[in-house]
Amino acid sequence: MALYHNATLCAICAGPVGTGAKVGFAPFVFNENDPLYTWSDSVVHRACLETHPSRELALRAKEALEGEGGVSGLPCVVCGHALGSMGSEWFVTWVLSSDPHSPLFEFNHVWLHKAHFPAWVSAARFQSVVDGVMRSEAWKGSTVVFDPLPSWTADASGTPVAIDWSRRLGPKH
Ligand SMILES: [Zn+2]
Ligand SMILES: [Zn+2]
Repeated sequence: MALYHNATLCAICAGPVGTGAKVGFAPFVFNENDPLYTWSDSVVHRACLETHPSRELALRAKEALEGEGGVSGLPCVVCGHALGSMGSEWFVTWVLSSDPHSPLFEFNHVWLHKAHFPAWVSAARFQSVVDGVMRSEAWKGSTVVFDPLPSWTADASGTPVAIDWSRRLGPKH
């Protein structure tokens, strides 16, 4: 979203965000069927967020995207080293599902060096779950493909989706 104004609608209550406390989110959900999809690349009232059950998931993604050091400073789940500044060398899941009963849920907030994917203890299960859910009716939007390393590539229409993880939301808090 990048910029918003007072008439922008809160992604939770659909009321104008106005001049009160609000929280902006970069894109962090890619399944258009997930209830949290509307929060992605959006803004919400702080008060609406405070009591929402998905609060933790969303704020964790926000922290990872916008925290000190940014995405490049996040530790790879396989080797433990920082992802580094080359976005093409990472794979990051962000929030795959806001439903704790989804098999994707355990793979929320996974970040790793693509090259280390084969060494990841959960690699085979991740690929199996992704292939099961993302090729089903439950999933709509950008998907993860394995060639054989994982990446977010094309949406259902075949249009390549470029995700700019370095995007920052304005205005600054
Ligand atoms: Zn609201
Ligand atoms: Zn690594």
